[in-house]
Amino acid sequence: MTRSKCCSKRCIYMYRVEGGKVEADYVDWDKAKIHVLSHVIHYSSGVFEGIRGYVTDKGVAIFRGRDHYRRLIRSAKIYRMLPEDYAPEDLKKEGRVKTEDLITRFMEITKDLIRENDLYRKAKKVKEEGKMANPFVYIRPVIYRGYDVKEDPILSPPLGVNPLNNPVEWFIATFLWDDYLGTTAIERGADVITSAWAKNAPSTTPFMAKGASNYATGQLAKMEAVLSAMFRDKDVAGKVKDAINKAREKNYEKVDLSLGLDDLLLPVESIQLTVSGHVAEGTGENVFVVMYEDGDPTKATIYTPPLSASILPGITRDSVIRIAKDLGYPVIETMIPREMLYIADEVFFTGTAAEVTPIRSVDGIPVGDGKPGPVTLKIRERYTGIARGKVEDPYGWVEYVEV
Ligand code: PMP
Repeated sequence: MTRSKCCSKRCIYMYRVEGGKVEADYVDWDKAKIHVLSHVIHYSSGVFEGIRGYVTDKGVAIFRGRDHYRRLIRSAKIYRMLPEDYAPEDLKKEGRVKTEDLITRFMEITKDLIRENDLYRKAKKVKEEGKMANPFVYIRPVIYRGYDVKEDPILSPPLGVNPLNNPVEWFIATFLWDDYLGTTAIERGADVITSAWAKNAPSTTPFMAKGASNYATGQLAKMEAVLSAMFRDKDVAGKVKDAINKAREKNYEKVDLSLGLDDLLLPVESIQLTVSGHVAEGTGENVFVVMYEDGDPTKATIYTPPLSASILPGITRDSVIRIAKDLGYPVIETMIPREMLYIADEVFFTGTAAEVTPIRSVDGIPVGDGKPGPVTLKIRERYTGIARGKVEDPYGWVEYVEV
């Protein structure tokens, strides 16, 4: 691979088309720009991935990176962006591109970026300094329809809905992220709501593609959650109201909401339903429901919505299904009514950023006894143990970046 190193310690890899020629290289962070007339900005013609690298004693451990890039290539294919449209020239053999070769190239660039941006050392440093609680490496590749500025750009720029005249471009960015749903959610369980914004119905936007357009309802549902607050009982509501009023009198110098905080629920996420009202997924997570037989957690069955429930085929979802089955739990993929969330013994999220996050309340109703349950914790321990390189990885999911 030919490459010129970017000059700063913060770079992004970009593959762009300019004047009909491909420009592909590492560029400085602040130079990683696209034109305002890029098709993707107007019509959401982009697909992306979110991949996680764990900071371990053996270096950065990328979790199922190849599977994420395979899903990225598939997402692009659904939007008729084929590897032949965007793969580096040297990977084209008789005009064709092997998916596995392209995945390998994406992985090489990713590892380079992690090293180049010095993310391993930086993650350790910000943790020591207390700037981030649990920093991890986040990898964000995007494939999209761009815009190639022609000689006289005023004449009919390709800005109609038809994307076929716009070049397929891509980039990979890597940076540090912290606990996605907050450290409290991980420790005590997340408070969530079911959103009035339904997931896209089949035959609207393709949910098997991790496409930007799917996140239109997702972001509305997310705002609905984070801007809402609920009280478990009226007394707490009254006390909080008093505290806010007092703070208002003092120009908000100090808003003391610590009283009864456990009874004040500040949802961090929404669960979206399908158009027919079944459970689909979180705005960035898949959902699992655990039901005990005779109240006995050792006799638990795990349920999760099937792909036909308008969900993203999550890679963490797949990992958790395999782990749960190997731990001896029956896992059933089936449509789940909303009210099953209310009567479940345990509910949890899975996702690259969220990992396995317990849910302690849905719409203000406590899940089980309102604490992370034993089945969730057992699965989480196994999942994070493998991903963080603490226990043997029998599935071959982890790939190390030497630093
Ligand atoms: N659903 C949605 C809508 C998501 O954005 C994500 C995060 N990528 C997930 C589920 C979980 O998928 P994964 O486990 O592959 O991160």
